[in-house]
Amino acid sequence: MKLKALLLCALSLLFALPAPSHAQLNEADKKLARDILQQLIEINTTDSVGNVTIASEAMAKRLRDAGFSDGDIFIDGPNDGKKNLVVRLRGRGGKKPVLLMGHLDVVEANREDWTTDPFQLVEKDGYFYGRGTEDMKASDAIYVLTMMRLKHEGYRPERDLILALTADEEGGKSNGVDWLLKNHRELVDAEFALNADGGGVITEKGKPFVVAMGASEKLYADYELAVTNPGGHSSMPTSENAIYRLADALTRLQNYHFLFELNDVTRAFFRQTAKVQSGQVAADMLTVTRIPPDQSAIERLSKDPYYNALMHTTCIATRVQAGHANNAQPQRAIANVNCRILPGHSRDEILQVLTKVVDDPKVSVSYVNDGMKVIMGNREKTALPPVPLKPAVMDPLEKISAEMWPGAPVVPEMGTGASDGVYTNPAGIPTYGVCGLAIDVDDDRSHGRDERLPVESYYNGAVFYYRYLKAVAGGK
Ligand SMILES: [Zn+2]
Repeated sequence: MKLKALLLCALSLLFALPAPSHAQLNEADKKLARDILQQLIEINTTDSVGNVTIASEAMAKRLRDAGFSDGDIFIDGPNDGKKNLVVRLRGRGGKKPVLLMGHLDVVEANREDWTTDPFQLVEKDGYFYGRGTEDMKASDAIYVLTMMRLKHEGYRPERDLILALTADEEGGKSNGVDWLLKNHRELVDAEFALNADGGGVITEKGKPFVVAMGASEKLYADYELAVTNPGGHSSMPTSENAIYRLADALTRLQNYHFLFELNDVTRAFFRQTAKVQSGQVAADMLTVTRIPPDQSAIERLSKDPYYNALMHTTCIATRVQAGHANNAQPQRAIANVNCRILPGHSRDEILQVLTKVVDDPKVSVSYVNDGMKVIMGNREKTALPPVPLKPAVMDPLEKISAEMWPGAPVVPEMGTGASDGVYTNPAGIPTYGVCGLAIDVDDDRSHGRDERLPVESYYNGAVFYYRYLKAVAGGK
């Protein structure tokens, strides 16, 4: 749900849209949905004191009780507290399976920061409160509920449906998706994956605005700019000053703009978002998707930080450290430059661009790896191209969205952060952020205090996934 910031400016158009209309869950499924969510929220799965295995086992028990055989349920992981669950609903084998991905771990939450106990499911004022209600235990519970419902019905999809509930997406050292791909690829191998950790219905005061679908991610990279200098007494300044030299380099960086570039996802994003925008913004969104795009439209849209980030690789100074004494000329000045690289470009390529922009042999430019170390090698990683917008994924999403949230277009989005798709996409399993939960544009509390989800949104999300999975998996 990363579209929020950008849409705030367009909300005045919302009020023309009708309220959602669709089938409801029956009372028994509603109760079951709530019970599963409550159980998951109340099993602490934080990295510090929590345990993902307990959550995996609890969900496995429910699925076993619903009729899944032991042979179709797998629980394992790199250590006792981080075991992942993989469950398979067997289909006719007509096509390669579809993988459903969800992380069971949650971000830390302190009782004293919260109004309610973060590890109790509390229903209050039309919301479910608890750590993971938004990110992403509600979606995990919906997956489990849907698998149970499909099993009860004796539903036989055309292709296998695989559910993987995993550890350590939010942090920790035992990422479950990575572990499964390395150790049990056959269990999770699929034509494509659906990950409810991305995408979602964005609403304003409960009214649907857009249905976002995660289809691409930028690549994160840090670089270090460093100047060293013999220094000396500050009472006799020389013409060489490490801080000035670094500041000059940073000013050149500030004035540099990476080339404008759209891909299939961001182009579709602007075309679709133009439908719910108006005036100059809507016109500019359409203009930038044309070839060649209009430079003045790019400049106007770039004033919005989110649109700017969609159209360009960005690199900014985020930290500086310089000097060693108030009365000495600085011997060293260092800046960290944080870049978010557009799909299709590599960290090496951006290193070369930065070196050119800095344009000063006395300022060294180096890549800084994930472990915060300046390194010379192993920085080849390229931001993957966006996933193709497959009809098998898009068509049912468009159709069901139009029925459940009429007037809210499906908008492919490019995330600026990373999800577990960072493992499945390079492994050749294109991953789509698809989620039927609706959250208000200004009420995103994931990772924050008093995390919550509208009760209605939860049950609607369950209706959506049931319908969507059947459409994606085919069969009866
Ligand atoms: Zn998440």
